[in-house]
Amino acid sequence: MTAKPTGDRPPEDLPGEVDVVVVGAGIVGLATAYKIVLASPGTTVAVVEKESGPALHQTGRNSGVLHSGIYYKPGSLKAVTAGVGRAEMVEFCRTHDIRHDICGKVIVATSADELPRLDELNRRARANGVAAERIGPERLAEIEPHAAGIAALHVPETGIVNYTEVCEALTGELAARGVEVVYDAGVRSVTVAGERVRLITAAGDIEAGLMVNCAGLRSDQVAGMDPTVETDTHIVPFRGEYFELAEERRHLVKGLIYPVPDPSFPFLGVHLTRMVDGGVHAGPNAVLALAREGYTWTDVDLGQLRESLTDRGLWHLARLYWRTGAGEIWRSLNKAAFVKALQRLVPEIESSDLARSPAGVRAQALTSRGDLVDDFALVDGPASVHVLNAPSPAATASLRIGSTIAERVMEHIGP
Ligand SMILES: Cc1cc2nc3c(=O)[nH]c(=O)nc-3n(C[C@H](O)[C@H](O)[C@H](O)COP(=O)(O)OP(=O)(O)OC[C@H]3O[C@@H](n4cnc5c(N)ncnc54)[C@H](O)[C@@H]3O)c2cc1C
Repeated sequence: MTAKPTGDRPPEDLPGEVDVVVVGAGIVGLATAYKIVLASPGTTVAVVEKESGPALHQTGRNSGVLHSGIYYKPGSLKAVTAGVGRAEMVEFCRTHDIRHDICGKVIVATSADELPRLDELNRRARANGVAAERIGPERLAEIEPHAAGIAALHVPETGIVNYTEVCEALTGELAARGVEVVYDAGVRSVTVAGERVRLITAAGDIEAGLMVNCAGLRSDQVAGMDPTVETDTHIVPFRGEYFELAEERRHLVKGLIYPVPDPSFPFLGVHLTRMVDGGVHAGPNAVLALAREGYTWTDVDLGQLRESLTDRGLWHLARLYWRTGAGEIWRSLNKAAFVKALQRLVPEIESSDLARSPAGVRAQALTSRGDLVDDFALVDGPASVHVLNAPSPAATASLRIGSTIAERVMEHIGP
């Protein structure tokens, strides 16, 4: 069947018809496409992406941590996929010559009131099968000589990688298997007729037996275009801002230094992260972004702003967490406050050691009642699978998430 373009541009690169079309060339979309063709080499797959390259949003703007799976509720998809997903990601890096380092991390308690939460994390580590050791200040000083702390958890399996480099390897694997990743092809609308789905994109139309929505910060908008699914969740964009440590101060951080997280808040608190290129990042904080891809305070989308201001779920959340939220905004606007949070972990860090570096925006799903969706969330339509929540550790676990989605795809279309 020939594609009849209703978008602005002719469908030069867009196959008119495939078995499966994946929306979004972030790490979840690319890993999913890869796992589908591995599971069923005869299946024709295309990936459509609104930007001009892969990994330009969450995947290319994150901390680059290979998470161990310590934080997550035992039995949750996050807990189940993080451990196996990390091992699979490390193996993928090895076989594809991608820079990575299993440098380990410490989660540091700096006051006595944090000790019960540190012990609870230790219990979670055991429940999730993650190796972790409760250590005292002497051992902490051996691992991270500049970190402050009265106790810590040492998690040796945690590592670092650059997920953009992983995506480059994935696009190479896809090209070798005949899967086209079509850029500048933002999906504008979706129609479903019987068991076929038709996408109108900026690069033309494409028809498929199944659509897999991996649109990250816009996954709720793409789900909203599918007339066959109803969802109770929507995405709230939370910006995470970073500073970078000056080169001559990088020696203050050997691996990864994290605070004990607030268990009722979905983010981990500002931490110090060594990157694979040798740099050290400090952050991210968590402030409401004023646009889906709102990387600075001046990136404002009036539609998004209206959506946020009239979002009853978000107001409910704001009432619950106003104190934490106010602290995050204060740290965003005031470098001294950000530095103070870091000094709890490494007292020698000074404001002059830190320069701003690019921010990321997290896609966090929220229900209409204002509950944060904690776990990964997938919803099926007759001709679609929607990934409605894929926050951290979804980059770590992406290959495993891709396998889970590929299994669902096979149930829909057959091997
Ligand atoms: C600040 C920050 C730090 C993080 N740190 C870590 C970490 O250390 N370790 C970890 O494991 N995870 C981390 N995460 C989480 C991780 O980055 C995400 O879970 C993961 O990248 C999600 O991948 P994705 O493919 O779902 O989304 P994205 O990478 O956002 O990809 C979605 C893609 O869909 C495209 N798209 C959107 N709308 C459309 C449309 N209409 N048509 C076509 N394409 C569309 C977008 O352009 C984008 O390329 C972090 C996230 C952030 C923001």
